[in-house]
Amino acid sequence: MAESRNCIKCKKVFTYTGVPVCQDCQKETEKLFDEARTYIKEHPDCKLAEVAEITGASHKQIFRWIREGRIEISSAQAADGGLTCGNCGKPIVTGRYCSSCAIKMNDSVKEAFGKNKPEEKKPSSGKLKEHGITKGKA
Ligand SMILES: [Zn+2]
Ligand SMILES: [Zn+2]
Repeated sequence: MAESRNCIKCKKVFTYTGVPVCQDCQKETEKLFDEARTYIKEHPDCKLAEVAEITGASHKQIFRWIREGRIEISSAQAADGGLTCGNCGKPIVTGRYCSSCAIKMNDSVKEAFGKNKPEEKKPSSGKLKEHGITKGKA
């Protein structure tokens, strides 16, 4: 079922596929992403505001890329840009949480799962993961 929508960026009518912008604007965003990422790589000390200004990507957009883990910045840039851990508020350089909170959360998720399951059968998924086995039996 094709649904026509207006692109939230250029207002053009396009076929909606779950993304609120048209393909042209998506391409444009990818281009901006490339530019922003390259700029940050080449200017490790630049400010995020500068990146936004030079590439034309919005601050919000750059933050999104960082939170998606697509762009990694220095801690100075993080502090300057105000990117902080969603849990403890410490400056972070990528993703949503600082590494220690990410680990803690991972643990609490595991714990929660462990508590939900009574002691009977212990799933060996953890062990499988350690061995890097993701495929089924050969
Ligand atoms: Zn568009
Ligand atoms: Zn944290």
